[in-house]
Order: sequence, then C-alpha cells, then structure tokens
Amino acid sequence: MTRLYWMVPALIGILISAAGPAHAGPPGSTRVPASAVALDAEALKAHVYRLASEEFAGRRGAGSEKTVAYILDHFQKHGLKPGFEKTYVQEVIQGTTGKVIGKNLAAMVEGSDPVLSREWIILSAHWDHLGHNAASGKTYAGADDNASGVAMLLEAAAWFARPENRPKRSILFVAFDLEEFGLFGSRYFAAHMPFGEPDLKLFVTADMIGRSMAGICREWVFVIGTERLPESRNWLKQASLGRTIKAGLLGTDLVGVRSDYGPFMTRKVPYLFFSTGECKEYHTSEDRPETLDYAKLHQISELIGTIVKTAATAPEIPAWSKEAVAATEELGVIAAVLEEMKLPESGLKLGGYQLNMVEKTLVSIRKLLLQNKISDSDRRGVIRAAQFLMFTAL
Ligand SMILES: [Zn+2]
Repeated sequence: MTRLYWMVPALIGILISAAGPAHAGPPGSTRVPASAVALDAEALKAHVYRLASEEFAGRRGAGSEKTVAYILDHFQKHGLKPGFEKTYVQEVIQGTTGKVIGKNLAAMVEGSDPVLSREWIILSAHWDHLGHNAASGKTYAGADDNASGVAMLLEAAAWFARPENRPKRSILFVAFDLEEFGLFGSRYFAAHMPFGEPDLKLFVTADMIGRSMAGICREWVFVIGTERLPESRNWLKQASLGRTIKAGLLGTDLVGVRSDYGPFMTRKVPYLFFSTGECKEYHTSEDRPETLDYAKLHQISELIGTIVKTAATAPEIPAWSKEAVAATEELGVIAAVLEEMKLPESGLKLGGYQLNMVEKTLVSIRKLLLQNKISDSDRRGVIRAAQFLMFTAL
C-alpha cells in the first residue's frame, strides 16, 4: 500500500455492508456455500511467515530475487502457464535510462469457453515491500503489506489451476513489483499488457488483508471500486454468505489511489480493491507475521477467490459505469465505524471536539437514512466529516 489517505477510506470503506449479518462460525465454517472457492488456511499462513522472514529481507534489494524465485516456484509447481508468452517475468524498464528496475510476475489459467476465454480477469497483489534500512539496521518485513495479499494470490492461483476448477474466462495472476515506489510496476504492466486492453474485463487487487483498521473494525474488509461495477455488489453479497467477515464498500473518491488499481482506473477498466486498512504498524519494522489475524486472512482470501470465480463464469461482466454509483449501504457502514471509534477498546482516545463531531455526524446519518434519496452533496458532507475524523483520530 502506498502512503497517503488510507485512513479516510477505511472509514468509508466500511460504508457498505454488502454482506448483511455474517454468521459467526469457525474459519472454514460449513455455512459457506459449496460453490465458494475453498483455500487452505495453513498454506496462507505459511506463505506470510515465509515471505516476511529474515531470509526475504523485506522483499527489496537482497530479498528481491528470493521472492521472485519463491513465487515462480509456486506457479510452476501448480502447473500454471507463463503469463507473458514464454515467460513468467516481465522486466520493468525505466523509460529514461532503459535500466531494468523491477520484475512483475504473472501466470495464467486459460478459460474453457471458446468465446469467453478471449476475455481476461486479472487477480493481483504487489510482492515488493520496503527492504532493509542500513542506517537503522531494521528490516521491514511487510507481513500485512503485502505478504498477506501475495498469500491469497498464490493459493487462489493454485485453486484455479486445478482442472476441475477451470474458469470460463481466462485469468491472469499477477504479482506486481514496485508498488511501494509510485505503483511503478503496475503502471508499467498496464502500458505493456500481454493481451489487448479491451479484452481486460476486470482488475482485482488485494493490499493488506490480514489486520483490522486501527485495531477496530475487526469484522470488516473494505472493498473499493464497486461504484464503477455495481453488479459486483451482488457478487459480494453472495460470496459473503456464511462468512465471519463483512464487505464494507467504499467509494474511491474517499480514498484516492492507494494501490495498484490506479493505472487500471485511469484506463476505465472495472476494478475491485480489497484491504483491511492501516494499523499503527503500517510501514514500520513492526509489520510482522505474528500480528496478523489468520482466520480473517483466510476468510477474505476465499471471498476474493469466490468473487473472481463468479466473474469468470458470469454470462457478462458489465463495462465500466460512466456514472459512479454510490452504494446505498455506504452511510450505514460509516455509522457503524463511528460507533466503533467511540468504544473504549478502540484505544483511540477521542478528544471532546472529535467526540462531538462523531455524535453530530451520526445524527445527520440517521436523518439521511430516513430519506428516500440521499443527494450527492448530503453524501459529501458525511464523507468529509468521516475523513476529518479518520485523519485526526487514527
Ligand atoms: Zn505499503
């Protein structure tokens, strides 16, 4: 995740509870429909521990080649084909110098349908992080950011690679480099795709999916981008059935560009971004594997896998919606987050001014929810207040 306005979105992310009440149950609860993508919880955890270990040196510099080898080994072991004609590796070249500055990695599963297989879905996560800081002697392991997303990517790719799980549309699994450095890897990829841009129907990415924003919002994963693909809200609702987590829909306007969806958003490719938001360990050497909630990571990974499966088999993936359609649940989700911020266990220690603002915002949300239609300016007012609270309190 790139630094910027994440807190804000998180709040907002909560915006939408696509899922309705999640049925509490142990990870892998039997209430999840049989059609859902089922991933191995232990394998997910093992990937995070490995990728965030000393050996990988923060997945930059000395640790880069190790990381590349680890991901390629996984793709090959599970029989995934190279994503760039004969190779899994796309060298990222700096335009001005011609220097190779990074490596995007991609593997594919070809769709089974003679017509739909010409259409592509990308599932992605960035593999790079901040490396080792020689001055401080600290290694930035990046367990949540973004070993968690890579773990999801690797296990989802292995699932789709099994013959019985072959999708109708084709799927490209991409691990981007240089996300932490201005999204350079995904920007390069988007300008040099292995298929024609019109054939890319959906871009999905996950960045930081193993924690909970500010230690609150434990049951939420934020989903950004549904405003350009409103149909995806139905997919999310279905994929959330029986899960212990809820999908909190956020409008991208609240968050800005925080991860690799940026270059695809610019190209008007429908996108979905999944994240659990920032914690105090974000971009510190304390982002370590023992701080993750692995049951949550497991649930979110299966949710994402199931969304991709749904999209890959749907009769049609709707094109980019010209109008950004705000989710109706959005304000309710913001209200839920504000309520959580007030709880003593949030550890946020809101001052009098902030508490007052929380209460005022909750009152206006309640009023708005009684109306039939919420205007853009009403919505913006709530968003601005929520943003202010996120910036100052988290
Ligand atoms: Zn980051």
